[in-house]
Amino acid sequence: MNEAYDGLGATFELYADVYDRNSIDGRGLPLDGSVHYEKDYDNAFWNGERMVFGDGDGQVFGRFTVSVDVIGHELTHGVTQYTAGLVYKDQAGALNESISDVFGSLVLQYSHKQTAAQATWLIGQGLFTARVKGVALRSMKAPGTAYDDPVLGKDPQPATMAGYVETEDDDGGVHTNSGIPNHAFYLVATGIGGYAWEKAGRIWYDTLLAGMKPTTDFAGFAALTLAAATKRYGEGSAEADAVRAGWSGVGVAIDGGGAS
Ligand SMILES: [Zn+2]
Repeated sequence: MNEAYDGLGATFELYADVYDRNSIDGRGLPLDGSVHYEKDYDNAFWNGERMVFGDGDGQVFGRFTVSVDVIGHELTHGVTQYTAGLVYKDQAGALNESISDVFGSLVLQYSHKQTAAQATWLIGQGLFTARVKGVALRSMKAPGTAYDDPVLGKDPQPATMAGYVETEDDDGGVHTNSGIPNHAFYLVATGIGGYAWEKAGRIWYDTLLAGMKPTTDFAGFAALTLAAATKRYGEGSAEADAVRAGWSGVGVAIDGGGAS
């Protein structure tokens, strides 16, 4: 339970200290957690009211509370629910997933005071048992390389639009195509440099609050991030340029060609 408590606390701290947000709803919602959910349960999730952690099956997964970024990921689904309200389907769903990975990774980076260059950009490092050939669930730095295992298969995430997966499974590939906006964020954060939560994270957080449609797609979201960067840091700023370069790097063309 201490691990779960630390992960909830680290998430609360990032949102409060850096983004001046009081818990996930912005109004001090208590962050409750339940551990040891069911038996051998291979997941952790936000059920709309509380965090629920499984202990893992001991075969593929160990206990889910070890991973501060996974806790941050799940709680960020709550933040998205209260802000952008993105639907959990197709590109909007992949953005919903990606936003959870972005802020989950930032929770970890903030708690360890890592720069963008120092961070691993792995999601769920340490969740796999020793018998799995893999380092984490996902990699934002190199989507598609987190694991390659005889039982689990290979990490299916694309890094760019060239590898976009058209599928009806997984709500339209929300856990797969999230690799694309994940990698865009990685490119933006490392392009700006320093602590990723300070500028890249701020741009993404401003975007969450900017009032987007629940069905916003990658191009629409990219345009909103550029508008947010331009509003906060100025037209032609290094930050706005890094945002443009990040989306370009994953093959997402920005709608409308710039800030508005
Ligand atoms: Zn998720």
